[in-house]
Amino acid sequence: MCILCNDGSAVSRRGFLKGAAYVAAAAAMPSIIASSGSAWAQAAPVSPTEAATRLADGNARYVAGSPRNSDYSVGRAERALGQTPFASIVSCADSRVAPELIFDQGPGDLFVVRVAGNFVNEDGLASLEFGSAVLGSQLIMVLGHTACGAIKATIDVVENGTELPGHLPALATALRPGVEKAMAEKPAPADLVMAATIENVKFNVAYLKTAKPIIADMIANGKLEILGGVYDIATGKVTLV
Ligand SMILES: [Zn+2]
Repeated sequence: MCILCNDGSAVSRRGFLKGAAYVAAAAAMPSIIASSGSAWAQAAPVSPTEAATRLADGNARYVAGSPRNSDYSVGRAERALGQTPFASIVSCADSRVAPELIFDQGPGDLFVVRVAGNFVNEDGLASLEFGSAVLGSQLIMVLGHTACGAIKATIDVVENGTELPGHLPALATALRPGVEKAMAEKPAPADLVMAATIENVKFNVAYLKTAKPIIADMIANGKLEILGGVYDIATGKVTLV
């Protein structure tokens, strides 16, 4: 299920683009604020599909070890005037999952909401609403990842009744829907952690797609799309799910 690899995996990079293409042949979305704040001299993408393509191309550069970005001082003065991120990422707080690096984007390109287990609560939703309705982000990707400790801990809670310390039970509560769905699969998944990671991404993608009024309305108007992905820490590749 590799979207970006050239190794003959089931889904090629072309598959990613095809997956992106399904989301919308949307009309151009005018930037809500002046584009003077965009870094890296990137013009705003004209559609959610183009935004997805930009992420796919950036991940391909990251996997290949040939990132475009090296001098982050470029565009610093312009960025002080505003921001026009073209995509939003909901990612885990895991230190190995850094969206700007994974997608080879610079400061000002991505609007990132991070929390252990990459789920969307009300605060996260409000942030994403701001990112798209005010700043003009045309794509939201919920990004899970391999070997997620938050997912593993929630599986342990559900399977064994393990009691987590401090405020960690709140995380397990948020991740429980995806974990329980994976555990109910017949036949039982060979890799429960991966299955739960995928189901958690899908659960949050579905939540965002129906998040009225702002997100759902922007999707209906072709100005925004939601994608789910899983980042493989070992390979660097992002696969759409
Ligand atoms: Zn994680």
